[in-house]
Amino acid sequence: MANCDMCGREKELVDAIVEGAVMTVCLDCSKHGSVVAINQPVVDKKIELQKEIESSPSYVDVIVSDFDRRIKNARERKGMTQEDLARDLAEKESVIHQLETGKLKPSFRLAKKLSVFLNIDIIESVESSSKGATKDVDLKSVSVTIGDLLKKDI
Ligand SMILES: [Zn+2]
Repeated sequence: MANCDMCGREKELVDAIVEGAVMTVCLDCSKHGSVVAINQPVVDKKIELQKEIESSPSYVDVIVSDFDRRIKNARERKGMTQEDLARDLAEKESVIHQLETGKLKPSFRLAKKLSVFLNIDIIESVESSSKGATKDVDLKSVSVTIGDLLKKDI
C-alpha cells in the first residue's frame, strides 16, 4: 500500500486534483475543500450520453390533434356515410363514429389506412423534445439507465 501524497499516512488512496495537480491521497485528505476526486467514470459516461441525445434530434410520428374533424370532412367530401366508410375500411361503424367525435384516437395502423383511403394527413412527424426529456435527468443518480432515458421519448 502506498503513502498519501498529502499527509504521508499509509491508507487506502484515491486519485484527486489538489490545487490543479493530480495527486494520490487518502480518503481523509480527499475530503478537503480544494481536493476533487476524479475516480468518477459513471458520471462522465452520463454526460457524454446526454450530449449525444441533444446533438441528434429525432423525429416521432404522432396522430394530429384534429383527426376527428379531418376524417369527418374527408368522408363527407367523398359523399360517404359512416357506414360506407366503415365497410370499405373493414372497421365497425361505431369505430368510425367514435373517431369522428374524437372519442377514439386511431391506432397508427388505422390512421395509415384512413390517410390513404381518404387522402388526408392525420399522422405527422414532430421533432422529439430530446432537450426536455433529458433536462430532468439527475446525472448524479446512479439509478438512471440508458433504458430510462429512451423511455422518455416514447
Ligand atoms: Zn492523507
